[in-house]
Amino acid sequence: MGKLTIRENVALGPLTTLGVGGPARYFAVANDEADVADAVRWAAGRGLPLFVLGGGSNLLVSDEGFPGLVLQIAIKGVRDCGKGCLEVGAGEVWDEFVDRMVKAGMQGVECLAGIPGSVGGTPVQNVGAYGQEVAETIVLVRAFDRKTGGFVELNREACKFRYRKSLFNTDEPDRYIVTRVDFELHPSGQAQVTYGDVKRHFADSTEVIDLPTVAAAVRGIRRRKGMLIVAGDPDCRSAGSFFKNPVVMTRRLGEVAIAAAVGEESVPHWPAGDGEVKLSAAWLIERAGFGKGFTDGAAGISSRHTLALINRGGASAADIERLQARIQDGVRARFGVSLEREPVFLGE
Ligand SMILES: Cc1cc2nc3c(=O)[nH]c(=O)nc-3n(C[C@H](O)[C@H](O)[C@H](O)COP(=O)(O)OP(=O)(O)OC[C@H]3O[C@@H](n4cnc5c(N)ncnc54)[C@H](O)[C@@H]3O)c2cc1C
Repeated sequence: MGKLTIRENVALGPLTTLGVGGPARYFAVANDEADVADAVRWAAGRGLPLFVLGGGSNLLVSDEGFPGLVLQIAIKGVRDCGKGCLEVGAGEVWDEFVDRMVKAGMQGVECLAGIPGSVGGTPVQNVGAYGQEVAETIVLVRAFDRKTGGFVELNREACKFRYRKSLFNTDEPDRYIVTRVDFELHPSGQAQVTYGDVKRHFADSTEVIDLPTVAAAVRGIRRRKGMLIVAGDPDCRSAGSFFKNPVVMTRRLGEVAIAAAVGEESVPHWPAGDGEVKLSAAWLIERAGFGKGFTDGAAGISSRHTLALINRGGASAADIERLQARIQDGVRARFGVSLEREPVFLGE
């Protein structure tokens, strides 16, 4: 084995934004692609499972921790290939990359400012916010294929991006370790202002609408919602949105409206193609009796964002899971709608 250092019994909670969970039996940091291949070989040689960690911002680690090797991807580097093409190491911090692109006048990721985590984590759940998602700008993902033992380059189509989904978290979970993501941005492109909150921000202001002001507006909106990581803010000790907006058959909309004793037009929903609609998980949760600031022991709901479950201090993973189950049961009992967890669960 090359220069890979394997450590033992490393606490995982501090490596996640939620801050809960037990240790990794083994832990290593990959600084380049050779480290990734070495780590896979090391774990396979011992019959151990391997988990890939980015920025830990979409992760709930179990209290027992992980019995195998946790490999943190720290591969750095941003290469400008011209004409808006950027090759970015999977270990780059996403928000730093966005900031750099915004300052360089590259359009395409300005509405994704303020999202924590690594660049390599973004294709996994097709990160999106405020009218943009990475599927629009990612042109290629380079990854180690654990099935064949070699590196592959997957184009946008092969990544099978959908709402909060991709090849990496559906058809082939755990198969690929992303080492580089290539983006095609638009040099000198117009900043995107399509989403309600962002439009409202500019409707009330005399600011120039350009990439830096849009990115700053998005950060401001996120901050107000407790969705920006700010040291000392208890509302951001979360894994972001804990539940996905559920997609249901259009006819279910009427049933939800009846259960809520409102007209269909009062139930927030968006077309989701093929006779389906996307409902607002936050709306359902609130009407099932779980409002902002709801607490359950050391776990709770953010005081500013219904979808964010938070660690109020000293929470265990079991505390978070108990609250998750209470909310899911409550929404199912009231509306007959199942809520799916967004963060990845690491544990047995
Ligand atoms: C305050 C807050 C706000 C957020 N806002 C948003 C938002 O607006 N929109 C949104 O979509 N998400 C949001 N998130 C969720 C999260 O930031 C994103 O999902 C992020 O892309 C996760 O990246 P990560 O590097 O932290 O991944 P991790 O949490 O480390 O891992 C998540 C999953 O991705 C896998 N993974 C990570 N890196 C790699 C890699 N290199 N190769 C293969 N698999 C990998 C892991 O194995 C795991 O399955 C938010 C989270 C927080 C805490």
